Amino acid sequence: NLQIGIVGLPNVGKSTLFNAITRAGALAANYPFATIEPNTGRVTVPDERLEALSRVFTKGERVPPIIPTYVEFVDIAGLVRGASKGEGLGNQFLANIREVDAIAHVVRAFQDPNVVHVAGKVDPVSDIETINTELILSDLATVERRADRLKKSAKGNKDDAELLKLAEELIAILGEGRPAREYQGEMAIPKDFGLLTNKPVIYVANVGEDDLTDDNDLVQAIRAHAATEGAQVVKISAQIEGELAEMPEEDAAAFLADLGIEESGLNKLVRVGYATLGLITFITSGEKEVRAWTVRQGAKAPQAAGEIHSDLERGFIRAEVIDWDKMVEAGGWTGAKAKGWVRTEGKEYVMKDGDIMNVLFNV
Ligand code: GDP
Repeated sequence: NLQIGIVGLPNVGKSTLFNAITRAGALAANYPFATIEPNTGRVTVPDERLEALSRVFTKGERVPPIIPTYVEFVDIAGLVRGASKGEGLGNQFLANIREVDAIAHVVRAFQDPNVVHVAGKVDPVSDIETINTELILSDLATVERRADRLKKSAKGNKDDAELLKLAEELIAILGEGRPAREYQGEMAIPKDFGLLTNKPVIYVANVGEDDLTDDNDLVQAIRAHAATEGAQVVKISAQIEGELAEMPEEDAAAFLADLGIEESGLNKLVRVGYATLGLITFITSGEKEVRAWTVRQGAKAPQAAGEIHSDLERGFIRAEVIDWDKMVEAGGWTGAKAKGWVRTEGKEYVMKDGDIMNVLFNV
């Protein structure tokens, strides 16, 4: 599943946001999975299509359960100046970040004299640079260690010689204080390099309730900085998210309307996370259940089938596919087939967001 790591300086609102995530997760029904790590919380991926389909496949009293996909957030607390040299929790939590798919970097964009700022003043761009510098330094140390090992093995091993060249190019980039994601060479950076700064970043501007509709100066500064990196910004109020997470759905909707916003910050963060990582949703749907699945953009039908079960990928013959809204219009599989809306797709079919798929396979 998609994992997003939450980083940021102390006192910017990470715990407040993380608590909101944990509460939202605890209230959401239908989790087919049991325990998760204490520093991990999850949020369902909001998807109104699933509710529409559940109504389509309701038979008398039997309403098919909805099983949404979810995003896992990992709280990576304790990132402070000097972390790459072992300050604070140091390398221990940096190890946590290596596992995640993307980073949500929380930046303080609220003014409150009662909340101390670690650097003495609220300056989001300087805060961003402090954290990014730690991540870059940590990566530099990681790649240098790797390069040292590769220098020995590269003689007489062509693959290692190429990896060494990559490592040296990365050292040059990181040494200039730039993140590894700026590497433009031909080679893909292998996952086992364990780098942090080649993961996509979403900046989360944490504002007070009054600044949710209009951007204050601090948010504007964050947006300007993010634009230079080509990164997305999600503006939220961590405190408001905490309140929203405790409310029944109808109350939450009314509360959002009062605040003048359309969508909760967590929903927005999840949505932007999906887009940033190029993820799409496909659906399996029937009277038994309505379920969402996640695949990368460009995934082909057998690969999508493999998300459901590895047997379905191995034995894939073909798939019946229909757009979700056509299914709603047709009122079920039988109606959809009668109208000729269910297509037969083969192994080369590229999945689209909102596809409903039924896999035909050999056991
Ligand atoms: P962390 O160290 O990054 O995890 O920060 P916390 O979530 O513990 O927040 C630090 C302090 O800032 C707490 O006292 C929060 O109540 C407060 N805080 C968080 N978000 C906001 C906000 O949007 N407005 C104001 N005024 N205070 C906030």
